[in-house]
Amino acid sequence: MRILLVEDESHLAAQLRQTLEEAGYVVDTAGNGRDAWQLGGEQTYDVVVLDLGLPVLDGLSVLKRWRSEGMVTPVLILTARDQWHEKVAGIDAGADDYLTKPFHTEELLARVRALIRRAQGLASPVLQCGAVSLDTRSNRVTRDGHPVAMTSHEYKVLAYLMHRPNTVVSRTELTEHIYAQDFDRDSNTIEVFVARLRKKLPPAMIETVRGMGYRLVVP
Ligand code: CA
Repeated sequence: MRILLVEDESHLAAQLRQTLEEAGYVVDTAGNGRDAWQLGGEQTYDVVVLDLGLPVLDGLSVLKRWRSEGMVTPVLILTARDQWHEKVAGIDAGADDYLTKPFHTEELLARVRALIRRAQGLASPVLQCGAVSLDTRSNRVTRDGHPVAMTSHEYKVLAYLMHRPNTVVSRTELTEHIYAQDFDRDSNTIEVFVARLRKKLPPAMIETVRGMGYRLVVP
């Protein structure tokens, strides 16, 4: 899952980036509204975390531009304390959720998880596929109740597919969602990760759809 983090306070941005990366997300950052607007229009994200007080172009204007351009990615806005009118304006401009500064990073992570699963129509933070279960809160995967060890890239591929059961996902889409913008992307590595996942999970769970990509088959 890939997140765009828009925050101009560099210390806070670095801290949030680390928190999100440790939680298993791939993170791109922008420090002003113009860069944020461009990235959000060009790249594909699962969630955007958008501070409203930004240089060059304010967060509310960025959000309005994105929505008028048809960008539907869930957006969580960060607002200053006691600025209740910012929340109202932000939600009216197309924000899906908000957090008031200062906040606990655990709350940010819980809200991000909820936005990602809601965007896919999923109700529970624990995703189930037959005998395999993936807990998005702890990033733990179990098979028949036993823990399955996996690398962070294997987890990212599996988590993306498990959020989209019975849906064909292309290798390009997977690549976009498990690597950050400045990462040297190679869609061939996706095949390697899927091959490794197939050895750890029930073999029929990830189906190859010829010429299209992969599909997580829910029994
Ligand atoms: Ca700010």
